[in-house]
Order: sequence, then C-alpha cells, then structure tokens
Amino acid sequence: MQKINYFPKRKELEKVIKNLSKKDITLIVTDFDDTIFSRYEQLNWTDELSLLLQKNRWNKWNEVIKNIIWIDSFMKKFYENKTFPKDIISTMNPKYDLILTAWYIEIQKAKMKATKLENFPIEIVLHWEEKPQKVLEYIIKIWFIPKKIKIYEDRTQHFEASKKDFEEITNSQLEIIFIKMNWNNWELEQKKVA
Ligand SMILES: [Mg+2]
Repeated sequence: MQKINYFPKRKELEKVIKNLSKKDITLIVTDFDDTIFSRYEQLNWTDELSLLLQKNRWNKWNEVIKNIIWIDSFMKKFYENKTFPKDIISTMNPKYDLILTAWYIEIQKAKMKATKLENFPIEIVLHWEEKPQKVLEYIIKIWFIPKKIKIYEDRTQHFEASKKDFEEITNSQLEIIFIKMNWNNWELEQKKVA
C-alpha cells in the first residue's frame, strides 16, 4: 500500500503553529456520519428511495441525492426530527469543539441544519485522509494549541497513521476513540484505540 502524505502543507502550518500558545483545554473533534448520527435507515430500509440510495452507494451517491431525490427530501426523510444519541454532543463546547466531516459540502451542511447542529463549528473535507491536516488548520483558526485533542471516529485509521507526526507538529496529545454506531436508538460503543 502506498504511504499517504497526511500533511502536504506541513512546513507552512508548522511555522504558524509554533507561534501559538498552549491552553489547558481538551478539544473535541468528532466525525458526523455513523459517529454522531447513524446512517442505518438509508442503508437498510427497503422502500423505493432507500433502495435507490443503496444501489448507488459510492460514486453516484451524491449525484442521486442532489439530482434525483433532492437534498431537501433526503433531509426530511432521514434527518429532520430524528432522535439520536447525545453522548458526544452533550460533552462538546459549541465555542470551539469541532464537527469534522467528509464528502460534499452542500449535503453535509444540510445535515447539520436538519439535525440542529449548525451552531457547532464545522469543517468539511472531500476525502477522509484530509482530516488530520484539517485539524491542524483548525487549530490555527482558533489560535491556540489544546493540551489534548480527542478524536471520535468510526474510521480511525487515518488519525492512527498520522498520530505520531501530528503530535510532533503540535506538541499536543492526540487521543483517538473509535465509535461503533449501528442505529440511532442504540447505545454508542466507544473504545480508545490510540
Ligand atoms: Mg463516519
């Protein structure tokens, strides 16, 4: 497997980060899909709309939502007025704790609005492997280095692989917690992996 360069902008980011002061704060950075909110329904229901999504799981997913189902209907059906566990959200400070999600901006932003999480800081990357560098950029945005950064993710591999470099750049501690979420009514399963 080809080694991923997680921090292509390392040099320029490091220069800025060096000037930041450290705060005795634990910053929470959480993923959204299947960490805060389960996609169980859209991936398991057997009505026409859900089946259409399931048939187009990967590269056509976005197109199908945007052009066939429409973003509004997708949100109404799967996100609006749904209950979901608040285990993570309830521990987060909307002043700086971050929801870091991947995929298409338009759809991800609509999900935040539909689940009433739009008051939290949100960053969106196109590909999962861009998340570790995005956290560095976010640290510059909030202009302090947290003593510790807690990552909640159902796909922890990129954070695990970049942890050593991340900690070297920030001189902060990165704690990675794997979340297994199977349904919005189910209990979250949490496990510290690194
Ligand atoms: Mg996820």
